[in-house]
Amino acid sequence: MTFDALWAAIEPVGRDLRSGGYRRFAWTREDATLREWFAGEAAVRGLSLTLDRAGNQWAWWGDPDAAASAGRPGVVMGSHLDSVPDGGAYDGPLGVVSAFAALDALRARGFIPSRPVGVVNFADEEGARFGVACGGSRIITGALDGERARGLRDADGTTLAEAVARAGRDPAHLGPDPEALRRIGVFVELHVEQGRALADLDRPVAVGSSIWPHGRWRLDLLGEANHAGTTRLEDRRDPMLALAAVITAAREAASARGCVATVGKVLVEPNGVNAIPSAVRAWLDARGPDEPDVRAVAEEVAARGGTLAVEESFTAETAFSAPLRDRLAALLGDAPVLGTGAGHDAGILAAAGIPAAMLFVRNPTGVSHSPAEHAERADCLAGVDALALTVADLAGPDGVVPRPRGEDR
Ligand SMILES: [Zn+2]
Repeated sequence: MTFDALWAAIEPVGRDLRSGGYRRFAWTREDATLREWFAGEAAVRGLSLTLDRAGNQWAWWGDPDAAASAGRPGVVMGSHLDSVPDGGAYDGPLGVVSAFAALDALRARGFIPSRPVGVVNFADEEGARFGVACGGSRIITGALDGERARGLRDADGTTLAEAVARAGRDPAHLGPDPEALRRIGVFVELHVEQGRALADLDRPVAVGSSIWPHGRWRLDLLGEANHAGTTRLEDRRDPMLALAAVITAAREAASARGCVATVGKVLVEPNGVNAIPSAVRAWLDARGPDEPDVRAVAEEVAARGGTLAVEESFTAETAFSAPLRDRLAALLGDAPVLGTGAGHDAGILAAAGIPAAMLFVRNPTGVSHSPAEHAERADCLAGVDALALTVADLAGPDGVVPRPRGEDR
């Protein structure tokens, strides 16, 4: 019962007893405890532990450098151990715990990999402390510049460089790490589903297809400040009415185009109870399977507010390797294939040209980034089986796939 023991060991770390949620932020004491746990699990399995230039932890079964030089880079599983404020227990840790459990299951079956098998703990995936998500994978792939990373600050003004130094690492090392990347032949990230598609499909595990295109836009809604008591309704130019139209339009346009859209942040000038606002600035977050639809949502929403959508960021679709996706879906009994609106380290690696795949484990309510986030134990064990089967296929001699057996877990 490897899974249960692994899960129990980290369950109390960083848990807020009042909310039941987790506070596991990058390069804090809680994070250090989890990193020690990871190193200990690597050690008891006789895996070699390496750290890359961003401080991501890699536990290897086999020699990844020799194999990479011989043209047989490794099969890596894993995820992250950090959390958002009051995050759930599963987002991240489920992928790391399942990776160790899957490795144990493979060994119990006598599986001999024909290439190295690795387990990774990516640092600072949530970006909860320094504001940039997937920091660990972005730094080693060069998607986040090392100098910029060092200067990122948390809410207390501590820079990432200072936090890394306090954790006993040299921040000068933060930067691209082609050596670490060339050891990865393929990366498979198992993750709790952040939605409830699998609950509706009545299946425990899905294969990821892509990370949806995602944009953020600013909308400036202008009006005229005036007295809330003396200005006749017909004489007002009240930008709050435009904001109301924008919020309603976001829901309608997203619904019509199969996207999601959110107005989660607004700034009101002057923000007084008895003053008609002079201006409202609103931000729209929109995501969906197809980029033209996502962009159309932003345009339609802005038009309904009588303004333009100013693009602040846009990330194109990150598609996971199609042959890998199809192979895993077939391997896992014609598993459902799902896209996701959330970012992941697997997406950062895929964007850097590394074959990557994701497995999603059913989340009965779909709730994530919340203490209520949950996955049933049976589904977690199904996830371990799926991951073991996946690695056996990818790291095994061609065509030989050991059968999963329940008692190996
Ligand atoms: Zn996650």
